[in-house]
Amino acid sequence: MASVARLAKRSPHTCGLFSGPAGILAASQNSTLRRAIHIFRNVPPLREHRRNLLHQGETVGLVPTMGALHRGHIDLVREAANENSKVFVSIYVNPTQFGVNEDLDKYPRTWDTDMQQLHDLENELKSEGKGTIDAVFVPTTKTMYPTLPPDSTIPGTGSFVTITPLANLLEGKSRPVFFRGVATVCMKLFNIVEPERVYFGQKDVQQTVIIKRMVEDFHNNTEVRIVSTARESDGLAMSSRNQYLGERRRKVAVVLSQALKAGEASYLMGKRSRDDILALAWDVLNRMGMEQDSLPETERVRFEPDYLSLADTSTLEEVELIEDGKGAVLSCAIKMLPLERKNEGEALGEGEDEVTVRLIDNVMLEPRDT
Ligand code: AMP
Repeated sequence: MASVARLAKRSPHTCGLFSGPAGILAASQNSTLRRAIHIFRNVPPLREHRRNLLHQGETVGLVPTMGALHRGHIDLVREAANENSKVFVSIYVNPTQFGVNEDLDKYPRTWDTDMQQLHDLENELKSEGKGTIDAVFVPTTKTMYPTLPPDSTIPGTGSFVTITPLANLLEGKSRPVFFRGVATVCMKLFNIVEPERVYFGQKDVQQTVIIKRMVEDFHNNTEVRIVSTARESDGLAMSSRNQYLGERRRKVAVVLSQALKAGEASYLMGKRSRDDILALAWDVLNRMGMEQDSLPETERVRFEPDYLSLADTSTLEEVELIEDGKGAVLSCAIKMLPLERKNEGEALGEGEDEVTVRLIDNVMLEPRDT
């Protein structure tokens, strides 16, 4: 599998686009054909620019990302450009949402291809007469955590936003600091950019629920917009982490969306009980697990389901029965384990398929009457 990370590892520090603390314009080759995108490393120039936009009556949609952009991110930016005259994209790999043993250093950083994708989209938007990708905010960690170095331990020292009990459920059980980091960095971004609207992907459903709760509880003056999950043609949800999957693991990873589809099908056929819905999803996971177990080490892929959940869409509490008119969210996480034995010439992913890759996905079971 061609690796985006291998193609473009340069960080914004080395790519020559930054010349000082003020916001600058980035436009690569063919710059005459492009609308330039402002790039900000620091808060004061961004704020000044934002203030000017406000005075000009422009609306700003913010798309927070950690870079390594793919079509899922691009869909968010496109939606933001549909609904706002200016789009800000933030690219920041936030250390506080990674646990101390997680893959912060290995997280893909693909500045050049990220900017290329944004410029390409910007050209499309221009021809469609849509909003502009106006600014990319790519702060340093010192900018985002100005007083204390970011702390990913528990309980951790620093200024954090915690949204409980939501943050302790599902993903939070395996990744106890994750949503504290996410909520904290989003609060900072919302305070810095002051966007009219913020855009998040349905793929990370718990994140969407937590951000909506944060905005409500802290009276953030912004509207949270959710964009549907972008998928590969076989159903795998797009993720920056997919590039760690070589061909063998990539093929088996489809089990995640297949399991959710099976659970959804059971709901659409009229089943409402947790047991009925989850049984079909578990069946898909278990069958794939057994099929893989029967293969030799050179052919098989091991994976471990972390959770399979049927939960209320706003509290994320597990539900036994989906009541009429309520709906639920069916979500799952699996860990794709490292390959036990590789074959010569095998198409490997970033990290040589030696890292465990945790994948998440979900489907919304929309409210229906029986
Ligand atoms: P990340 O860079 O992974 O932190 O993601 C930034 C934003 O993109 C988050 O709101 C994610 O939910 C969203 N996102 C990531 N993958 C997808 C996808 N496959 N479809 C839609 N949104 C996505």
